[in-house]
Amino acid sequence: MRPILQPSLVNGPFADPALFVDVLFERRARPLTLFGPAGFIEHAGHRLASYTWNLVENYGFALQEAMHVNVWPNRLAELGLVPGAWLRDAKRAFIADAPDDTPLTARWREGDKLREKRLSLGTLRQAAMQCVPGQKIACVSDVACHADNLQGIIRLVADADLLLIEATFLECDAAEARRKNHLTARQAGSIARDSRVREIVPFHFSPRYADCEAALLREARASFPGVTP
Ligand SMILES: [Zn+2]
Repeated sequence: MRPILQPSLVNGPFADPALFVDVLFERRARPLTLFGPAGFIEHAGHRLASYTWNLVENYGFALQEAMHVNVWPNRLAELGLVPGAWLRDAKRAFIADAPDDTPLTARWREGDKLREKRLSLGTLRQAAMQCVPGQKIACVSDVACHADNLQGIIRLVADADLLLIEATFLECDAAEARRKNHLTARQAGSIARDSRVREIVPFHFSPRYADCEAALLREARASFPGVTP
């Protein structure tokens, strides 16, 4: 299934940090939880009324899709059912933890005939539905690697599917990184490892490494193998 959150960097890895997140609504509204700094929620609220933002000042933000329901089409067919708008209500009932005996009416068109079938949520749930944790993406930049910051960052980005994280300096320039409120590539990798994220995209590289970008990536990879590119 195509992830509904499609993040991409607006600028190259050496330019100003800016992230664009495309939210695909091809399956209509799904609950989502988003995390981030003050003002961000109001800003995004109108467009993303069904989402919750979680933003942490000075760290970055995380977007978390609450839960989503997978439906197996072949098992649906075995029950003699055809997907339709009714399935959306069924998913909603499932996510809301409605009791198994909640009645459902499946309706769909077959040619010019309207077909209808009654069943319980429990029947559908057991046969054809699965609730899975939603996608989580996070972004961290312009932070200093102090112990109290680190805890906040790790809590924010924990278990993200994708983390875009600054890797501004090499570890040999760690003192300067700290002074300028930036992470080294090694620190970025350690954060990724300690927060059990699946994949990171390092960015916001200092221009001083313009001819040795590979060294930054290599350093991040030394503490965390899931580095893209
Ligand atoms: Zn910066």
